[in-house]
Amino acid sequence: MVSKKDIESTNPLKVAEKQVDIAAEKMNLDPGMVAKLKSRQQEIIVQFPVKMDDGTIRIFTGYRVQHNDIRGPYKGGIRYHPDVSLDEVRALAMWMTWKSAVVNIPFGGAKGGVICNPKEMSDGEIERMTRRFTWQISPMIGPERDIPAPDVYTNPQVMSWIMDTYSIMKGYAVPAVVTGKPLELGGSVGRLEATGKGVFITAREAAKHIGMPIEGARVAIQGSGNVGGIAAQHFQKAGAKVIAISDSKGGIFNPNGLDLDQVIACKRNYHCFIGEKLRSEEITNQELLELDCDILVPAALESQITEKNADRIKAKIIVEGANGPTTPIADEILYDKGIFVVPDILANAGGVTVSYFEWVQNLQNLLWSEDEISEKLTSILTKSFADVLNISEKEKVNMRTAALMLGIGRVAEATRIRGFYP
Ligand code: NAD
Repeated sequence: MVSKKDIESTNPLKVAEKQVDIAAEKMNLDPGMVAKLKSRQQEIIVQFPVKMDDGTIRIFTGYRVQHNDIRGPYKGGIRYHPDVSLDEVRALAMWMTWKSAVVNIPFGGAKGGVICNPKEMSDGEIERMTRRFTWQISPMIGPERDIPAPDVYTNPQVMSWIMDTYSIMKGYAVPAVVTGKPLELGGSVGRLEATGKGVFITAREAAKHIGMPIEGARVAIQGSGNVGGIAAQHFQKAGAKVIAISDSKGGIFNPNGLDLDQVIACKRNYHCFIGEKLRSEEITNQELLELDCDILVPAALESQITEKNADRIKAKIIVEGANGPTTPIADEILYDKGIFVVPDILANAGGVTVSYFEWVQNLQNLLWSEDEISEKLTSILTKSFADVLNISEKEKVNMRTAALMLGIGRVAEATRIRGFYP
């Protein structure tokens, strides 16, 4: 239990560690094992120069944190954002370990990030920064060791530069060093859509569980990038009404539903959402979270739902597209209010699942069809949802603690079987 007297921390690492404590207590895990599971196996901080377009040299700071590889190679995205910090990357790496275990794929957890603002950089500057960062972390990564993927403000193009840089260093093509690549370089069909599609699949399972039809459900989505944008399209296709969506500058709201084609066109043409053009009201990212809706999808950054606003959330279901959007005290408030939360390590696990499919295809030099990928993804996520729900009902814990009990339990058991060297 989280004591309400605890000072609520929105530091992602503190949040991640608190979540482990809550699950470990329920599982009666040995304190030594808990300490092992919380600790990181390796981390690297790099500072490196990049020649900017105006001829000046800028020094960037980047991180790669390898949390745990007990069940398989480290796996996790690379984030480019001005607010990247070591503790954020550590938390994201730990969540990757639990996530891979929840969906039972043979990966561990890692994460990387570079402190930068890609919106203010040219493509050439981003490419040079990516290549130099890849070179600096290259001793740590590799198809059998640690496989990066896209995260906030990185994309298939950035993955291509990582793959190219790593391959040049090796002297031969190594597609399996990253996932989320373009199809032309060995990317998998369905990877780009996988996380958003997984958010929709787990939302559909949650709706089924609470007896709420998806058709006609009012959905509010914070963030409109890879995860939020794709999830929005899936909800619309299934007959739900996307009533609000946002980006880093703010959002738009129409209680009768937004026209997603127009929304996408507006963002493409003007790089923001314009309420007047989209026949909708402009709202802040905070207001979006508190809208009267059926399904809320945080799909941007961490610590959005905290003790400060959890009480005002009106959604019936929250599906966490983002990693770490809810703090532990907020979790308790939501649980008491009867809001059904599909936690990040389950809701957004579609990404790492299809990344795994991409890696397997690369290692075997074969290509799976879109139907095969979609079928395998749906089956893994619906089974994982059922597994987590089962633990939640049996142990009388919320879905996050249930998911953590499943994921942490698998990692703890693998650790016990492997034993402690020497
Ligand atoms: P993205 O770069 O494609 O999109 C990020 C979105 O967040 C954009 O809409 C951006 O405008 C918005 N945003 C940025 N800063 C914001 C702020 N301060 N307030 C509100 N919105 C802000 O990134 P993505 O891949 O869609 O990732 C979104 C979330 O999903 C992250 O938490 C990420 O870790 C998580 N996630 C991504 C994947 C994946 O496969 N891409 C997989 C699992 C989890």
